[in-house]
Amino acid sequence: MRKVALVFLLAVLLPSLALAWLAARSLRDQQLVLERQQFMLSQGLADATAGKIAARLAELQGEFGSRVEALLGSRAPEAVAPVFDQEIVRAWPLAQVGFAVSLKGEVLAPSLVGSKEARQFRLENDKFLSNRESVEVYWNSPKGVVNLSQLNRGKALAGAFEQPALPGKSQTKNQLRNVLPQQQEFATQALVIDPPGSNEQQISKAVATEAEFRHVVGDAQEGSVARFLQDRLHLLFWYRSARDPNLVFGAQVHPARLLEELRPLVEDQAGAQPGWGLALLNESGKPDARWPAALNADWKRPFVATEIGDVLPHWEVGVYLLDPAASVRAAETLKLTLGLLIAILVVAIATGSWLIFADMRRQLRVAQQKTDFVSNVSHELKTPLTSIRMFSELLADGRITDDGKRRAYLQIISTETARLTRLINGVLDFARMDRGERKYRYESFDLAELVRETLDTLQPQLEGAGFQIEHALPPAPVMVNADRDAIAQVLLNVLSNAEKYSMDRKDIRVELEALQGAVELRVLDRGSGVPTGCEKRIFEQFYRGHDSLDSGVQGSGLGLTLARQIARAHGGDLTYNARDGGGSCFTLHLK
Ligand code: ADP
Repeated sequence: MRKVALVFLLAVLLPSLALAWLAARSLRDQQLVLERQQFMLSQGLADATAGKIAARLAELQGEFGSRVEALLGSRAPEAVAPVFDQEIVRAWPLAQVGFAVSLKGEVLAPSLVGSKEARQFRLENDKFLSNRESVEVYWNSPKGVVNLSQLNRGKALAGAFEQPALPGKSQTKNQLRNVLPQQQEFATQALVIDPPGSNEQQISKAVATEAEFRHVVGDAQEGSVARFLQDRLHLLFWYRSARDPNLVFGAQVHPARLLEELRPLVEDQAGAQPGWGLALLNESGKPDARWPAALNADWKRPFVATEIGDVLPHWEVGVYLLDPAASVRAAETLKLTLGLLIAILVVAIATGSWLIFADMRRQLRVAQQKTDFVSNVSHELKTPLTSIRMFSELLADGRITDDGKRRAYLQIISTETARLTRLINGVLDFARMDRGERKYRYESFDLAELVRETLDTLQPQLEGAGFQIEHALPPAPVMVNADRDAIAQVLLNVLSNAEKYSMDRKDIRVELEALQGAVELRVLDRGSGVPTGCEKRIFEQFYRGHDSLDSGVQGSGLGLTLARQIARAHGGDLTYNARDGGGSCFTLHLK
């Protein structure tokens, strides 16, 4: 049995628990996968929007170049330079102030006596444009180089978006981003994007460089420069005509109008992803455009954010969850559902395992009992057979001449044969009943009379063995509808047990009571009583409460099984109760 339990534990229970543990783990991974999917989706949205904005800025840059070429027309560039400010402001709505600078550092426009914006512009940018001062700028030159060999300006600069190596003491500066996207935490957790502890995500990809204007221009044909003045971003587009590369035409972009250009891009993009909100965050991390219009969030903590680039440094597209609690709720529900399923599965496996185990234990017990039964029955057969053989041999020898003795021996042979027949009948009965083949012949008869008859038959034998028989039977007939022989067998089995298990106090009492619609027949003795703990099991097949060897009482463990089966087949029962004052009380209930 212990071996079976061990095999069961190793082959079923432990693997099931391991599976449950793996399932619970994969549940956690599942959540990570979900978060990752969410992250990828929103990152895609932020990248796409930032990409569109960057593309629009590149278009505006190109548009500015075309406007300059259109303004120049057939005129000589140096003739246009002094009036460039007024003309570009009129021709291109995005221009706030126009400027023209020679590479030698001469600021030709705007005029110092021009508009208020123009004067302010000169004040702020003169030194930088005329190469008298290096300032911290972000810049790029998206279009290829121009042929500047006549300027003798040294080596050509690298292609678009690359930072050229600058002469002198120019230096680059990394800055922290305005926002701290939540995705950073996820990325660190999942070890997908950055190793833990990395703060790369916090550092802006837009790099500030200290440079003079001519370094910014380099060999490129056009480009943009962004610089911060009093914490406000100023964006300048510049362009050189191939006709006079010494002259640089530029414009400071009108911030409000630029925003008008960019806002629809945010709004267009946002509708594509339900559940998400989008914001265009400016250099101070405030939303300059948002979708949906009512979007309100902790602007510094977007779910993900993408920087727009060097043209608008420190501007970002932030993606926000419209209902952050909803995704937490969904994740919780998923976790709960799967967790419950796993729990149910484990309970089902455990219950199933237990049932199989219990059944196996029962089968093993029955197998054990059958083995005991075989040895009991063999013993039971052997005893009468030995007597029969011995006495028949004595008689066959012809040495016994005394008639009295011969009769006594023949009587013994007859009793032992009857015992053998009873035993074999019992086994056959049980086998029949076990196969459900036993048929009952129902008839109405007086149970009191049956009891009386049975007692009359048994009385001489019992009294001969020193028993005192008492009975309490009602004077009136007690009619029942049952198989007479079968009920007689029940009574006989129980009475025979009372005889077998009575030790010194040889007292048997039989009571019959007719109740309301039912009948109770009790057989009471003053014997050893059923050993404690075996009260229920004595009705199981082959079960013996008194071991043959220890108690010296012979038996097959089938008497009560048969008796109870007969009682139940009649819609009644056979029960056991310990008798007050010692002994047993077996009750046959019939309806
Ligand atoms: P058997 O008597 O052949 O062992 P039974 O099915 O008739 O088988 O009885 C089962 C067990 O019930 C017995 O082994 C015995 O332990 C217990 N038992 C039955 N009748 C009595 C009784 N009158 N007093 C004490 N124990 C009894």
